[in-house]
Amino acid sequence: MTTTTKMTAKARTITYDPLSSHCDAFISDAEIMDTLAYAEAHKFDATLAESILSKAAARKGLTHREAAVLLVSEVLGVDARVKALAREIKEVYYGRRVVFFAPLYLSNYCVNGCVYCPYHAENSHMPRRKLTQGEIRREVIALQDMGHKRLAIELGEDPANNPLEYVLESIDTIYSVKHKNGSIRRVNVNIAATTIEDYRRLHEAGIGTYILFQETYNRKKYEELHPAGPKGDYSRQTEAMDRAMDGGIDDVGLGVLFGLELYKYDFVGLLMHAEHLEAAKGVGPHTISVPRIRPADGIDVGDFKDAVPDEIFERIVALIRISVPYTGMIMSTRESADMRAKALDLGVSQLSGASRTSVGGYDDGNAHGRAPAGGTSQFDIDDGRTLDEVVSWLADKGHIPSFCTACYREGRTGDRFMGLVKGGAIANICQPNALMTFKEYLEDYARPATRAKGMKLIAEELARIPSDKVRAKASGYLAELEDGKRDFRF
Ligand code: SF4
Ligand code: SF4
Repeated sequence: MTTTTKMTAKARTITYDPLSSHCDAFISDAEIMDTLAYAEAHKFDATLAESILSKAAARKGLTHREAAVLLVSEVLGVDARVKALAREIKEVYYGRRVVFFAPLYLSNYCVNGCVYCPYHAENSHMPRRKLTQGEIRREVIALQDMGHKRLAIELGEDPANNPLEYVLESIDTIYSVKHKNGSIRRVNVNIAATTIEDYRRLHEAGIGTYILFQETYNRKKYEELHPAGPKGDYSRQTEAMDRAMDGGIDDVGLGVLFGLELYKYDFVGLLMHAEHLEAAKGVGPHTISVPRIRPADGIDVGDFKDAVPDEIFERIVALIRISVPYTGMIMSTRESADMRAKALDLGVSQLSGASRTSVGGYDDGNAHGRAPAGGTSQFDIDDGRTLDEVVSWLADKGHIPSFCTACYREGRTGDRFMGLVKGGAIANICQPNALMTFKEYLEDYARPATRAKGMKLIAEELARIPSDKVRAKASGYLAELEDGKRDFRF
């Protein structure tokens, strides 16, 4: 499908082209507007909705245009059908496993002017801090003592204070810390858009996923929200994932900050970005995150008139699940326990737990990892429970908490990973890895009550491993974990 848009800034004519390396072609404003008009015109079209739902039921994914029709559809029963399909697809591809990660803030120095973030350069009353390598070691020990194995490092953009060398040194430090039975086995990285050469260096440092949120796909709104600093360059941000992949990074994570622009526009833009990566690079995004704007120091959600209400947010989550069935979905502690429980049913596959969104927030002497309120946080947390509380809560709901990091360590990234997921082979890999890493957690970090219910769940879930051979092998590894051995994986 091609449409044509006139660029006001340079009066150029740009044709929508998912294969293009030019962001105004693969995220074409005209195509988004046309899609939204098409969806609006068909919102009572029961026949069209039915045919799109049938395609989704065949687990073939949806195009941005099909997904947009279901997003605005007012046909009776569509909302319930979309959610039921999302639950079904989640169950088939991800089972009841929930992978955990934690954010680690390294520095809040930032030269940018993002109006929705308290770390913006003009915020003079935000204390600035950058962790030393010794402080990073202490943060990592605190995270390991909670049971975390997978981190996402976060830092502002500041070439003087946070150069790439600092990021690379910090990644080395994180991987080097081995405390008791703890280790961080996968470091995902969320740093500012950069060059192919810098992405190559990050890849060589052994990062997992490179995560970069677009915030909003609407160029005009994007430029308004980023009035100062290099992040204000919409093209640099929107074409970053192409450069990351050109630099050798196979796994990239997309996301928008829902509530910054009309959610329908960003929803369509997000799916178009995923389609672009699949078309141009041969592999779609590894993950999609679904943050919503939250209050923070000097940031009032009321200032953002497009804040997304819960019922619409749930439909967005469900529609992403059925549109890109093979892409992991991430939800942070920005959301309440109640919303996280709903989102897990609707397709979310990764959660952060016991997060601190401030620099140095873990090593504060709080042994249980309960989140403090306020301080130098980038945003306020809604789910402030300890990791043990979240794990116990998930086990009560029949979910399997997983600390698995196996694929990246086994070289299953990019199209190799997607091939396994699409062929259904991943069930024989994810399920035993989830059970083994969950048991490691229970042996090393859980309270007795959590341990007891977790062990019962593992015994029940072992039977769900499809292959007899893998099940027998996993059973042996699970027994060996009781003898103090660690880090088995398929
Ligand atoms: Fe800086 Fe990121 Fe905050 Fe923008 S969102 S001000 S780039 S830390
Ligand atoms: Fe993720 Fe791979 Fe582990 Fe499955 S086996 S949970 S896809 S890392």
